Amino acid sequence: MERRAIIHKLNQNSYCIDDAGESLSYVVLGSAKAAVIDTANGRENLLQVVREITDLPLVVINTHGHCDHVFGNVFFEEAYIHPADVEVHDQHFATKKDVSIPEEIRARVTEEEIEWFLNAKPCKLLPILPGDIVDLGDVQLEVIGIPGHTRGSIALLNKADGYLYSGDAINKGQFWMQLPESIPLEQYVETLDSLEPYRPYIKELHGGHSVAAFEPEFIDVMRAGIVEIIERGGEGDGKTPWILGIADSHEISDGTLVLYDKNKLRK
Ligand SMILES: [Zn+2]
Repeated sequence: MERRAIIHKLNQNSYCIDDAGESLSYVVLGSAKAAVIDTANGRENLLQVVREITDLPLVVINTHGHCDHVFGNVFFEEAYIHPADVEVHDQHFATKKDVSIPEEIRARVTEEEIEWFLNAKPCKLLPILPGDIVDLGDVQLEVIGIPGHTRGSIALLNKADGYLYSGDAINKGQFWMQLPESIPLEQYVETLDSLEPYRPYIKELHGGHSVAAFEPEFIDVMRAGIVEIIERGGEGDGKTPWILGIADSHEISDGTLVLYDKNKLRK
């Protein structure tokens, strides 16, 4: 298979694996186990890439059920996911066979490799819930529920270094809340408020699509932008095309474009 991954060392026990600029996985090392947070698009053997970093036993966790975070599960035995996102995980795996492989990729991989990937089955899923602790030995990751982008979105907090692995739950640049599986914006504001007890611990947000970390104050910027959309009732906002349609969109103060659905502002 083609080499896509670029490994970035973030600190002494945390790594970011950039899957050709499409999505990110993270590896967090403890004394007994290592966590693999999200598994990207599955177009490269992520297990082999992780093995360049560590030989430790692995705990694989999906921050949510979208294809660009779970397709790489095919290289592992099992993965943890919030039960509320199993349905969207299953939907995305069901469409894997319909994905057309771009010509430039066909030129670089064999027909057998393409066949293998298209036929690969999702791994066994195990439930993970807010409040759970992923114990890696001397490192613990606390599971925090961040429903919004999807109902079962979770983040993992390492209180020791202040890293919050947030998947797509609070994204900079472009933030997707327009999906059928996204919750109403008003409810998402409650989600952001529920992070208050964790705020003293959060030093950096490591999201699913930006190698550069976000500062924790971005949570407040996002909240203010979302409240603005709700209060104006979407008045004056534009439209932005995305892969499956055209969504309402609003640029918040830092320039991040929030895609949303005007019919899902309030609970
Ligand atoms: Zn997503």
